[in-house]
Amino acid sequence: MDNGSSDDTKLVHAGRDPSLFEGAINPPVTHASTIIFPTVADLKATGLHIDHQATYGRRGTKVSFVLREALAELEGSHDCILTPSGIAANVAALLAFLHPGDHLLMTDSVYGPTRSFCNRFLKRMGIETTFYDPLIGADIAGLMQENTKVVFTESPGTQTFEVQDLPAIAAASHDADAVVLNDNTWASPLFFKPLSHGADVSIQAATKYIGGHSDLMMGTIATTEEAWSKVRMSVLELGYAVGPDDAYLAQRGLRTMGVRLRQHEKNAITLAHWFKAQPETERVLFPALEDDPGHALWKRDFEGASGLFGVLLREGIPEEAIAAMLDNMNLFSMGYSYGGYESLLIPTYPAGNRSATEWRHNGQLLRVHAGLEGVNDLIADLEAGFGRMRDAS
Ligand SMILES: *Cc1c(COP(=O)(O)O)cnc(C)c1O
Repeated sequence: MDNGSSDDTKLVHAGRDPSLFEGAINPPVTHASTIIFPTVADLKATGLHIDHQATYGRRGTKVSFVLREALAELEGSHDCILTPSGIAANVAALLAFLHPGDHLLMTDSVYGPTRSFCNRFLKRMGIETTFYDPLIGADIAGLMQENTKVVFTESPGTQTFEVQDLPAIAAASHDADAVVLNDNTWASPLFFKPLSHGADVSIQAATKYIGGHSDLMMGTIATTEEAWSKVRMSVLELGYAVGPDDAYLAQRGLRTMGVRLRQHEKNAITLAHWFKAQPETERVLFPALEDDPGHALWKRDFEGASGLFGVLLREGIPEEAIAAMLDNMNLFSMGYSYGGYESLLIPTYPAGNRSATEWRHNGQLLRVHAGLEGVNDLIADLEAGFGRMRDAS
């Protein structure tokens, strides 16, 4: 089937074949551990080399193969594999390429639990991590060691929103024979294509925008043909399994991701401008804004912005005043994660999550996830919140 050239068409059609399922639009959810084979010959024909075909529950059934095929088409990848969470995807992708004695270059803006995996688990395994300035670009060549095997990127970082020059970093990394990994959760494969910008491996916390409804934990890893067998074996050897109900939710979320992401983007841009106009705001951290330091790279490489951005408040606003705002919001909730249909607003503390660079700001950083609500209602909620903050200052 020809799924067209537009990503919107791919989101709707990729991986689907209703003729296989009595004409049903969506694939059936098969709960299975044991898969039975009619003959010895059929049994013997299965094995590690078989993929995209049910052989044992842990390795997936039709619903997970549909999701994998749809994602691979959207990512422009050789193949794509599922993991039980986004962090599990980062773990499997790193372990696919690293051995004791190896060296890893890791962006300083990385998601906290990924940083912790490097500092604790990889260190115990004898793998050394050097954190680097996310804005380093081609100068990453200067950090390469003889044993550097992996360069990990995440752009923009989901606390501080620096956009990385992935093509420049990838070129320098490949010159040094290092593999380039990219955690692309912020943009989703709809708004950024890591493999077309030099990455070998594209990682996604499907928990966020692919799921889209705050009811799913999942990760995905899409790779080039050269990187595929190592990543696939890493996921199989780690024993990860993704349940069929979760695979179903993810493939269902994917079908509407285009319209959801554009509404998240539209609301986020409106909210970002509102925050910018408030006297308490020092700076809005959002590459979609023209005066953001990452705007030029974002415009060059991305097809759009998701709904997640940062707001740095001016120094000197009392903590109680900020709490008076956050504790009593009506539509915005406080919670980790993002990518669901609902708006979120939380305080974040990036200073402790840095080692190669410094977060020098004393003002409170807020993280906003613009949900799909009517944006005027969201602004009214924020106006009331800033009013409470002013009254308590
Ligand atoms: C949420 C997130 C993860 C982890 O995903 P989980 O499904 O929560 O494990 C990894 N990377 C980024 C950038 C994220 O935002």
